[in-house]
Amino acid sequence: MSNNKPIRHLLGISGGKDSAALAIYMRDKVPEMEYFFADTGAELPETLEFVDLMEDYLGKKIIRLNAGKGFDHYLKLNGNFLPTARSRWCTINLKLKPFEQFVGDDNVLSYVAIRADEPQRTGYISTKPNIKACYPFKEDGLDISDVKNILDESGLGMPKYYEWRSRSGCYFCFYQRKIEWIGLSERHPDYFEKAKAFELYHKNLGRNHTWTQDESLDEMVARKDEIKAQFALSQDKPKKLNNLMDALSGDDSDDNDDDGCLVCFK
Ligand code: SF4
Repeated sequence: MSNNKPIRHLLGISGGKDSAALAIYMRDKVPEMEYFFADTGAELPETLEFVDLMEDYLGKKIIRLNAGKGFDHYLKLNGNFLPTARSRWCTINLKLKPFEQFVGDDNVLSYVAIRADEPQRTGYISTKPNIKACYPFKEDGLDISDVKNILDESGLGMPKYYEWRSRSGCYFCFYQRKIEWIGLSERHPDYFEKAKAFELYHKNLGRNHTWTQDESLDEMVARKDEIKAQFALSQDKPKKLNNLMDALSGDDSDDNDDDGCLVCFK
C-alpha cells in the first residue's frame, strides 16, 4: 500500500450472481465492508431491483457510483463508434474510472468474486498501487454450486434477468448472445428500440456498425424463430432445456469475456 492511511474494504456489486453471493458471504466476516454499484445509466430494471433487494438484505447502503456523463456522451467522444470487445471504452469510462475516483488515494482491499472453479480468471486488478485485490471464493474453494446455495439460502435467489439473460450489465451490451437480444426484444421492447437507434445513427453516417458483427438488430429479430430453434438445438442435455439460466450461462464455462468485463458481470 502506498501510504499510511487505514485500509478500506470495498466490494463491488455488479448485479450478477457471484458478487451478490460474495457480499452475502462476507457480510459478517468484514463488518466495515463498503459496498458499491457502478451504475452505467443503461442497467436493466431487473438489475436495479436486485441491487435494491441486496441493500435491504445487507442492511447497509450500497453506494451508487456513476460517471456523471452517460453512454451517449462517451459514444460521441469515441467518434460514434459503438464499443466492442476490443474497444471497451464503455467499461473504462462507466465502471472503472468512477471506481478509481471513489477510491482516490486511499488504501483499498478490493474483494473480487472469482470462484474456485474459474482458475483462468484474475478479474480487474487496478494498476494503482493503493488498490489490492483479494479472492475469498478462490481462497476458500467455493464454486458455482456454492454460489447458488448462498443465494438460495439467503432467500434472494437469482436475479430475475436470469430467466432470459446470463449476465448483468447494460441492456445493449455487445457481449449478449443472439438469443439474449431476442429476449431483450420480447421482455423490454422499449430498450431494444433504443439499442436499435444507436445502429441507425451509424447507418445515417453511412457506416455499417451494428451491435453484433454480422447483422443488424432488425435483421436479427426478423429471424428470431430460427435463432430460438438453433438455441434449442444447441442444448443437447434435456435438463438444461428446462432451466434457461443454466442453458444461457452454461455455468459461465463458455463465457468469452475477459478480465475487464468481470467488472460488469460478476
Ligand atoms: S455491460 Fe457491456 S456495454 Fe455495459 S459497460 Fe460493460 S462491457 Fe460495456
